[in-house]
Parts: sequence; C-alpha cells; structure tokens
Amino acid sequence: MALTAVQEDVKSLVEELNFAEKVDRSLRLIEEAYEEYGDRLVVANSLGKDSMVVWHLAKRVSPFIKGFIVTTRFKPKETVEFMNRLVARHSELKVFRNDEPIPIGLYETDPDRCCDILKVEPTRRAIQEMNVACWVTGLRCTEGRTRMDFQEIEERDKGLIKLNPILIWYEREVWQYLALHQVAVNPLYAKGYRSLGCEPCTRISAGADERAGRWTGTSKCGGECGIHTRPLVPDYQI
Ligand code: SF4
Repeated sequence: MALTAVQEDVKSLVEELNFAEKVDRSLRLIEEAYEEYGDRLVVANSLGKDSMVVWHLAKRVSPFIKGFIVTTRFKPKETVEFMNRLVARHSELKVFRNDEPIPIGLYETDPDRCCDILKVEPTRRAIQEMNVACWVTGLRCTEGRTRMDFQEIEERDKGLIKLNPILIWYEREVWQYLALHQVAVNPLYAKGYRSLGCEPCTRISAGADERAGRWTGTSKCGGECGIHTRPLVPDYQI
C-alpha cells in the first residue's frame, strides 16, 4: 500500500476489514508517511478519543513524531486539565490558541465565524509555524453525515498532505483500541459525551450520529468547525 495509492472504496474497507487489519493498515499508513515526510509529518491532536488513538499509533511508529493541539477560551475545564497533563508528558506537543477579542456570544450569532477565528486560524498557524508537509488527523468516516466524503490520503490544500489513518474505524474499534492499550481519555466521556468540543457548543447526545451533540439548535448541528473543510494554506506555499 504505497502512500500514493489510488483512492480506495472506503465503505468496503470499513465493513470488510477486521479490527486487527485496521490497526495494521493505520500503522502502515503512518509509517509510510513518516518515511516520506520525516519531521514534517505532524499529528493534530484534538484531545478527543480518536486523536488519542492516532497519537498512540504515531508514537508506536516513532517517539519523535511531533504534534499540535488547537485549543480555545471555551474548552471545558476537564479538557483543559486533560490537555495540561498530556502536554506535561509530551514536550513534542505544541499548543496553539487565538486570543484575539471577539464579540460576546459569537458562538450563538455566528458559530461559523467563531470557529473560523478560534479553530481554523490557529490550525493554519500551526501548519505554517511547524513547517508541516503532512498533517495526521483522527477523522473517521463513520462519525456522522459530514464525514463520509473523505479519503485516507488527501491533498485538499495544494502541497499539504492530509493523512486520516483511522478513517475506516468504527466508534467501537476506537474504544477497543483505547481499552487494549490502556490509553487515558478525556474524563468527559465518562459523563456521556461522545464527541467533544467547546463547552457552549457541545451536548451529550444519543443515537446513531456520533456528532449529533455538536452545535445543537443551530444550522451547524452535527457539522464541522472548519479545519477539515476550509483552506489551510491560503496565503502561502508549503
Ligand atoms: S465550537 Fe463553538 S465556541 Fe468553539 S470555536 Fe466553534 S462556535 Fe466558537
């Protein structure tokens, strides 16, 4: 499976590969990308369960792989404490945040703009400052309606490769991996949350759509903050 492999039928992979095959495939994807990009391969860690799997897989490939976390002023205190513990253990994880003033209640009046300022801007900055050629995410196509149109290896921004090594994993397989490897997770999962974000925009939800608790009551419900859908290298070339 070369990194330049043609796009595969993601839905078939989701259904036909077993858990162990998916783990092997994910490790190989990271290994091949690391061989190609070396230090310019960087893991985006959102502090959610999927990111913790990808971070653990990356560390199995090489302890030297670096990462970045984008945080905001609205993250729940549990997430901030979890982040601080993780960063204390991993100095190769760099934190990015945008503290510029924004209108009060922007997350209600214009959540897209709020996410653009607080999440997309620091992600762009992380990619620029860390000289990233390949960023690695925990995105999964089984998470909800907005995540079905992705591939394991993409180039949505010219010159910037995006690797989604656990794209084909089910939610159950994420928990299976975390349990088997005893990986610590954000304590908010124990309270019933299934997808974690900023405090004002995240609710506990049930049902098939894992992301149904995100931006409830707005047109953005179950949607995206923009880091997977907006251009990340608009003004400069990698
Ligand atoms: S998730 Fe909500 S609070 Fe956080 S950046 Fe987006 S709109 Fe703003």
